[in-house]
Order: sequence, then C-alpha cells, then structure tokens
Amino acid sequence: MSFLDTVRGMKFFDMHVHMTSRTTDDYQAMADAGIVALIEPAFWLGQPRTGVDSFRDYFASLVGWERFRASQFGIRHYCTIGLNSKESNNEALAEQVMEILPLFIYKEGVVGVGEIGFDDQTPAEEKYYRAQLELAKEAGLPVQIHTPHRDKKQGTSRSMDIALEHGLDPGMVIVDHNNEETVKEVLDRGFWAGFTIYPFTKMGNERMVEVVKQYGPERIMINSAADWGISDPLALPKTAALMKERGIADETIRLVTFQNAVTAFAQSGQLSIEELEQPIDIDQSQRYNGSSVLRGGQAPRVDKSSTIIK
Ligand SMILES: [Zn+2]
Repeated sequence: MSFLDTVRGMKFFDMHVHMTSRTTDDYQAMADAGIVALIEPAFWLGQPRTGVDSFRDYFASLVGWERFRASQFGIRHYCTIGLNSKESNNEALAEQVMEILPLFIYKEGVVGVGEIGFDDQTPAEEKYYRAQLELAKEAGLPVQIHTPHRDKKQGTSRSMDIALEHGLDPGMVIVDHNNEETVKEVLDRGFWAGFTIYPFTKMGNERMVEVVKQYGPERIMINSAADWGISDPLALPKTAALMKERGIADETIRLVTFQNAVTAFAQSGQLSIEELEQPIDIDQSQRYNGSSVLRGGQAPRVDKSSTIIK
C-alpha cells in the first residue's frame, strides 16, 4: 500500500519548503498528496549572491512568480522574508539587504521574518539576527528561526536567549530544525518547535514519530525543508502516513502537520484557517506578467467551481 492511500483525505501545510528550487512535478505530487499550503522561507541559494539586486529579485519572486506557480497546482504559497545567516557574514552586502527588507515584509502573503538565526555563530550573524528580530517586532510578524547544524544545542539556546532579550513573545517565534536534544528546552520555554524530516540523515521520519509520542502535539510542527539539495517535498505526508501506521491519533497528526503551523503563522494576519479550508480554483490558462507554467501546445487544466466537483 502506498503512503498516499494512508493519508487520503488529509490536508497538510508544509511550513518550510524552498519551491524556487523544485519542479512542477514536485508541485503536482505535493498537491496529489494533500498539501494545500506551504511557506517558503527566504534562504541562500547554494552559492553566495554578489549584489543586493539578486536579493531584491529573489524576494520579489517569492511574493510574485512562485506564489503564482503554486496556485497553478492548487497550493497556497506563503513566504517569510529575511537575510539568511550564511550571507549575514558579508557585512557590506548585509547592510544593503537590511535596507530593502522593509519593502518586502509588508507584502501580501508574507507571514513572517525568516529564515534567520545562526549558521557558524559569528558576530556578524548575531548582529543581523538581532536587527531582524527588531524588524519583526516592529512589524508584528512571527519569526522563523533557522538553528545551526553544528553546535545545535548551544546555538538553539542562544537563539532563544537573544529573542527574549529583544522582548519577543515566544509565541511569535518558530524555532526550526529541532531534534531530540533541543525539543524539550524549546517547548519548556514556550516557543514553537519545527522539525525537518531529512531523508537518510539527522531527523528521519521514524525518529519524528517517537518525538510526537513522547511530547504530544502541542506547539510541534513538521516540515520537509526541501530545497536544491537531496531532500523530499513529500516528507510531510509520508511522515503523517507513518504516524498513522504507528497508531498516533488522527487529531494529533492533524495538529503537527497542519493546524499548529496555521495557528502560529496566522498571527501575521496574512493567512487564516477559513482561507485554507477553501480549495483554489485551478486555472492554468492564467499568466503572471505574461508567463505561464504551460509549454507550447499543452492543454491548460481549468477547474471551475472545484468546490462543487470535489
Ligand atoms: Zn530552509
């Protein structure tokens, strides 16, 4: 039996996935597996950008073209905008990026400042992390924190210490990429705990099932963090299927794969449960600034009144 049979009828919200680096096949497969919405955090692209205009175009694509592309597959696309930790280390460029962030964080579909935080835990990373916490506070937006892969436990504690120092409400902060070593502290201190399911490494979905069994569903949310590296944009529905097979209650699964992320990011005022309950009418004959997801001769899929047909 395929995992798709196990999760049929369930709805998912992948709160961390970099669709810019994924294909239309991925979008189709995600929609078929029940993913109705996603958040694309701004991050680095695998190699450093050399000028502020590259950031400007990237942020514009997250609130524009990528949002449109997702809609063509019936998926609601939200994003978080921020200067990632790695590129904070180029201070001359970081200063310029900080100047353009306010032009993007108030745009439609932006549900937070992210993904920000530490990579190598350098002084420059700390400087721009702090500056962006202030920006989020001023804008009343949730913060999506990327925790470092090296010295994770200490880096995670420090990220939370600094957020509190800046007067952020832990209920407005989503600490991502947790593991068994960090989760207890994150939950005890009142923050939201994101978990990334990485295929073959670190946090596999077997381990995720154990975390949910131990800690329950409160303030826990799961994502794929799929990007240009080896990753799986179906990690969320696959983990839900495994949870169901391992006897975890449907309501618990719903909370950690859908509802908790909605609750956390709805605080931005940019998304609501009512909105997510409504399927999108797919109309692939639409264009965005003259561009379509279709190639020559392809027939557009047009679902009028899909609420009635489905
Ligand atoms: Zn990411």
